[in-house]
Amino acid sequence: MFNFLYNTPIQQHKKTIKLINIFFYKLEKYSDKELKQQTSKIKSYVQNNKFKVDDIIPEALATIKEAIKREIGIVLFDVQLLGAIILHEKNIAEMKTGEGKTLVAMLPAYLNALINKSVHIVTVNDYLAERDALLAKRIFNYIGITVGLITQYTKYSDRKQEYLSDITYVTNSELGFDYLRDNMCIHKNEIVQRGFDYAIIDEVDSILIDEARTPLIISGKSEISNSLYKKAKKITDLLISQKHYKIDEKSKNIILTEKGILFCESNLNIKNLYNINSPWIKYILNALKAKELFIKNKDYILKNNKITIVDEFTGRVMEGRRWSDGLHQAIEAKENIKIESENKTLASITYQNLFLLYKKLCGMTGTAKTEENEFLKIYRLRVIEIPTNKVCIRKNLPDLVYKLEYNKWQAIAKECFDMYQIGRPTLIGTTSIEKSELLAKILDTLSVPYNLLNAKPENIIREAEIITQAGKKYSITISTNMAGRGTDIILGGNPNKIAQITITTYIKNKLSILNKNKRINKSYSDITQSILNKIDINFFKLNINIKNIEKEIDSIINSNYDRKNIEKEKISIIYEQLVKKYKISCDQEKKEILSLGGLYVIGTERHESRRIDNQLRGRCARQGDKGTSRFFLSLQDNLFRIFGGNTIESLMKKLNINDNIPIESIILSKSLNSAQRKVESYFYDIRKKLFEYDEVINNQREAIYTERKKILESTFTRDCIIEYGEYTIYEMLKIYEKENNIKKQQVLEQILQLLNISKHFKKDRLISMKLNEMKKFLYEQFRISYDLKESYLEELRPGLVRQMEKYYLLQQIDKGWQEHIEKMSLLKEYIGWRSYGQQDPIVEYKNEAFNLFINMVTYIRQTVTYLIMRSRLIINT
Ligand code: ADP
Repeated sequence: MFNFLYNTPIQQHKKTIKLINIFFYKLEKYSDKELKQQTSKIKSYVQNNKFKVDDIIPEALATIKEAIKREIGIVLFDVQLLGAIILHEKNIAEMKTGEGKTLVAMLPAYLNALINKSVHIVTVNDYLAERDALLAKRIFNYIGITVGLITQYTKYSDRKQEYLSDITYVTNSELGFDYLRDNMCIHKNEIVQRGFDYAIIDEVDSILIDEARTPLIISGKSEISNSLYKKAKKITDLLISQKHYKIDEKSKNIILTEKGILFCESNLNIKNLYNINSPWIKYILNALKAKELFIKNKDYILKNNKITIVDEFTGRVMEGRRWSDGLHQAIEAKENIKIESENKTLASITYQNLFLLYKKLCGMTGTAKTEENEFLKIYRLRVIEIPTNKVCIRKNLPDLVYKLEYNKWQAIAKECFDMYQIGRPTLIGTTSIEKSELLAKILDTLSVPYNLLNAKPENIIREAEIITQAGKKYSITISTNMAGRGTDIILGGNPNKIAQITITTYIKNKLSILNKNKRINKSYSDITQSILNKIDINFFKLNINIKNIEKEIDSIINSNYDRKNIEKEKISIIYEQLVKKYKISCDQEKKEILSLGGLYVIGTERHESRRIDNQLRGRCARQGDKGTSRFFLSLQDNLFRIFGGNTIESLMKKLNINDNIPIESIILSKSLNSAQRKVESYFYDIRKKLFEYDEVINNQREAIYTERKKILESTFTRDCIIEYGEYTIYEMLKIYEKENNIKKQQVLEQILQLLNISKHFKKDRLISMKLNEMKKFLYEQFRISYDLKESYLEELRPGLVRQMEKYYLLQQIDKGWQEHIEKMSLLKEYIGWRSYGQQDPIVEYKNEAFNLFINMVTYIRQTVTYLIMRSRLIINT
């Protein structure tokens, strides 16, 4: 109410937070039953229009705060309440790692579910969606709110129900694919989503910025020959860098030189490589990109003889994703593995546009401030920093810059060795799988034990476990940037996780004795052993699938409400006992680690954006703990090399010092920062461009999907057919008007044929009419003809005509749209190759895209009219 008096968000909302806490103290005294009634009580306030949504904030948030306390014994901090309000007000809440964002998201989710809006909490991967949904189910069960979960493993038949829950946890990719699939349905009841009201995006920067560049694609097979890829590869193997082509590392692009073009043309025996009707240029450029810019074990890995993309920002493998426009096939050709047939895009959307569908959007992350401009301009989201609960005391030490990369890695390994000697846990972030393995090798030679976390499948399955261990004494963890994101590193170890892992390993161990006579060597202390001995292995042997043992144990431990089984109850008790036991040793260990300075985070290369560097730094010093971060760099790092410019190059020459000694110079730091800013704005520009281009097809997609939906939901599609038919007549008459007399005859003939009414009357009569008159007449004839057809069909089989209409309409819209997106993607490529002098290519793109769209619409209407007028019914007797 008095917002204008205050400026910082915490002050602005002080009063609300106070009110929440007042309600919270009141609710503490409620019985469980009374607490549950809160939901319907608050709902009725809004339904009766007694209150506006904002008026119920204090009581609603207090209710969920109390539910959280009752279920998991955690009392939310005021900064978490603040974060919740900021999310409710459609902003991005920047909250540091370990501040408890998982719980924060539940507050605005509850609030908005109370007003019967569909609420989606969107996460970056299945693991997080599942983990958070499981916790949410326990908490919301207290207050009668249903929680749904959608991951890639959710069956199609269950999805609708999950989306119908009050709050649904869903991964960003499933959300997108479901949206696309919903818009390809043939029957209304196949649709699974129920609208886009309110989304809370977890790790919002990862989804809206890092992933914004890769569109989601649903594709089908097409028939283009794979031999073209092989031939292109052969030719490009002969091409020499600099002579035949130049590499632009900055924009990940290849430019053919005049010599290169001539070489290809003579080799392929064609006249003009850039001829729009020749397919070759695309194949040659893709083969060159595959050769020079896409590196194995950095940009992709080979897994089961398949190219699997590694996300350049997170270092995670992106299962099932393929590079588009033939690039993936070019890489398959390079690696000499089976070339999967080229896919035809059936539907696609970028995350940017997917999330703009929501009426209300917000997000949370530890790092957004550096990109606040982008969030505001593209998504209209403000970034608001939420203060940490305890003051952050992390030491960010100045960068150490070595001349050569070799010396940098030696220095990092030496630092790890030193840390290992004293037992201080250290996390080293690397930018690629290759680099992480390089460091691992050096550590091997120094006999320093470590855990390696990168996108390789054998490592990824242990991800959560490795991160759980990363905060323990003597832990040295090498991780590609941001692997393990979303999992908190707890100093001294996480007693809950350790207890869970112990139980799982114990059971697995025992079961493998019973099943395979194979034992995992593991010794437990006497106390642990005596606790574990209580587990009845036979129960697991008989009742549980060993493949899912992790999941089973996880759900037994984390779900209070369905613990009816005595054995499961026992496991929960054993778990509690172990947690208690481990907590004591973990707490002690934490104290020791704090005396060593807390977790030490080492960066090995500055990333393309400060945000990613900050994410890495943010892994340490959580919740007021001590912690240190430092970046070890070399002048040979990509950032320096590609974006450093002249300053750094001349500095390199001038500096004449020992290779082993790091350089600390103010000029160097400054040019490093400016290089990084240059990269950030460079990529921002690319994303902005992409967005501008994408906006064109997005508007078209919206128009087509709206039309499609209208038809899908309509029970009376006749109007649509009449409209399409009249439009077709109108369009053809426009052509008729422009033609000479002979051609006029032909056009008229076409119209009559199209409408299937040519038999009924003479053309001469028509030709003598004025255009307007003719139009009116043809409209009328068309209706009469259609009426006849309808009554004829109706007599044969009632209801059939409506079914047929719907079928043709949807079929032709889909076909037209699919062909259209293919043309649009070609258009974009060609626009990129042409030069426009002063003219902005986007203007050209928009114009041509518009023409293509109109052509598509005309084509759809024409074919639907044609098909429906020509359709015949064959009755099988
Ligand atoms: P983030 O996503 O912000 O990094 P998480 O949601 O993973 O953080 O939470 C980190 C840890 O802090 C979890 O173990 C969670 O249970 C715990 N936590 C969250 N809120 C509180 C609180 N108010 N008091 C104590 N522990 C909390």
